[in-house]
Amino acid sequence: LSGAFRENQSRFKLVLICTAVSGGGLLAYGESVAPEEIITEKKKVVVLGTGWAATSFLKNLNNPKYEVQVVSPRNYFAFTPLLPSVTCGTVEARSIVEPIRNIFKKKKVDVQFSEAECFKIDAENKKIYCRSSLNNNLNGKEEFVVDYDYLIIGVGANVNTFNTPGVMENCHFLKEVEDAQKIRRTVIDCFERANLPDVSEDEKKRILHFAIVGGGPTGVEFAASLHDFVNEDLVRLYPGIKDLVKITLLEAADHILGMFDKRITAFAEDKFRRDGIDVKTGSMVVKVSEKEISTKELKSGGEIKTIPYGMAVWSTGIGTRPFIKDFMTQIGQASRRALATDEWLRVEGCNNVYALGDCATINQRKVMDDITAIFKKADKDNSGTLTVKEFQEAMKDISERYPQVELYLKNKQMRNIADLLKDVKGDDKKESIELNIEELTTALSKVDSQMKFLPATAQVASQQGTYLATCFDRMEECEKSPEGPLRFRGEGRHRFKPFRYKHLGQFAPLGGEKTAAQLPGDWVSIGHSSQWLWYSVYASKQVSWRTKALVVSDWTRRFIFGRDSSSI
Ligand code: FAD
Repeated sequence: LSGAFRENQSRFKLVLICTAVSGGGLLAYGESVAPEEIITEKKKVVVLGTGWAATSFLKNLNNPKYEVQVVSPRNYFAFTPLLPSVTCGTVEARSIVEPIRNIFKKKKVDVQFSEAECFKIDAENKKIYCRSSLNNNLNGKEEFVVDYDYLIIGVGANVNTFNTPGVMENCHFLKEVEDAQKIRRTVIDCFERANLPDVSEDEKKRILHFAIVGGGPTGVEFAASLHDFVNEDLVRLYPGIKDLVKITLLEAADHILGMFDKRITAFAEDKFRRDGIDVKTGSMVVKVSEKEISTKELKSGGEIKTIPYGMAVWSTGIGTRPFIKDFMTQIGQASRRALATDEWLRVEGCNNVYALGDCATINQRKVMDDITAIFKKADKDNSGTLTVKEFQEAMKDISERYPQVELYLKNKQMRNIADLLKDVKGDDKKESIELNIEELTTALSKVDSQMKFLPATAQVASQQGTYLATCFDRMEECEKSPEGPLRFRGEGRHRFKPFRYKHLGQFAPLGGEKTAAQLPGDWVSIGHSSQWLWYSVYASKQVSWRTKALVVSDWTRRFIFGRDSSSI
């Protein structure tokens, strides 16, 4: 008994102190509202993931009336835009990660974290099934069930291999922090292996051939970082083999960086050629074996070629996680590529479930309604037609909200409006033409229905997280007074304004302290000044002061001492 008393003594003291400090307020409070009542009043929000979308939601949620349970196999947030820098030791892995508990420890909201992965969602019974990702045993079982009132899915995406044989077994990916660390070790290992005595010249060449599959922003940035690492640091340490190093970038489309302005694409291709990076466009990888990559050359009638390689990095886009695919089948979305939501980020076909970030997409029909509304707004005299000027203004709004629409137009070689007019009207009269809104919407609805209308970027994910946190903060208030603002379209009112993406621009680091920046309003800048803009934006976007300090000190260390080439 005395042991139990001793154990509880400190807690007892704390209650006394609290009572004294609050002048008896604690007791009075206890009398009027039972603590259990307060707890049961709290709605349980379960958040899946600790990436950009989920972390931004957690950082911005301020209403203490929720009880939040976070489930993720990663107990940290990773600043993914700096992963390519980690592959070459420009920045250390620990500098770009922040423990998730640090992020919510000072919040007024009650947040709990479980390091586990969700493997099944039962939306009907509001339950999720999880499996611990640690090698421990939870009283004999590693699985557990969590109930929720609201579920927020921010689980990101998988790598997409397009079922190409041999990719999973033989290629590296650049998606997680561990991937970047593995690539860094493998690059150094390749140099060490090629430097061993008795390795033939041909074998050295093979080992030192670095192949990157995918000419999107990640593949291009990795190729540029690797080129800098090799030329600024490794050639001095391995003088005997420096001339045998080769970097090849393989891209199935006609150009690399297809989603950027054509000036950036041209500059990047030209710079890579000058740097000696072999850019092979129109080259589709069809198979990867242990030592060779087979490609189908689209420009030369589908000829199959084989390329010996030492290390291959696969970076060709993203796919849906298997348990999300199962969930999509369950709720009638089996034919889609990502979870379809409405503009309030609610998953279509089930209640109280929200999806954001790379795993979600906004329903195409809703997007087309939205685009029509923008056209109608631009139609000043309500004539059902737009002048070219009005159309241009509307397109600015559209590409700010849905940059993918612009990307689609570019990909279809409809890089300027005249081309689109041709597509709509079948002629090319430019300025004088009046555009029928219905015809315009039909032309734009040709955007591939499989495509995500918002790009799979950290920018989208974090804006969605912030938006959803604001909605959750105001949920109770809105339930009490349901007369919200007028609907964006249609009759009546709704409680929250729909999510609106604001595109702030994008960067493509090209190596040699040069970056291409494409900012809103088609403002393009390439060179050293954009590199400094890149440094300042990425330093300021770090999730904590600790990571800000670490990243800036890593950059300074690299400027002074170069990159570390040890293989640990
Ligand atoms: P993620 O950030 O991927 O987070 C997913 C979370 O879900 C993770 O915490 C994961 O552990 C967790 N999870 C996974 N499975 C489960 C499960 N079964 N149960 C529970 N939790 C689970 N975007 C930009 O805007 N600018 C850039 O410069 C940029 N550069 C990039 C560079 C690289 C190398 C990469 C890979 C991506 C880059 N991106 C960039 C894209 C950006 O990282 C993604 O769009 C963003 O991470 C998406 O956020 P998310 O929250 O949807 O997913």
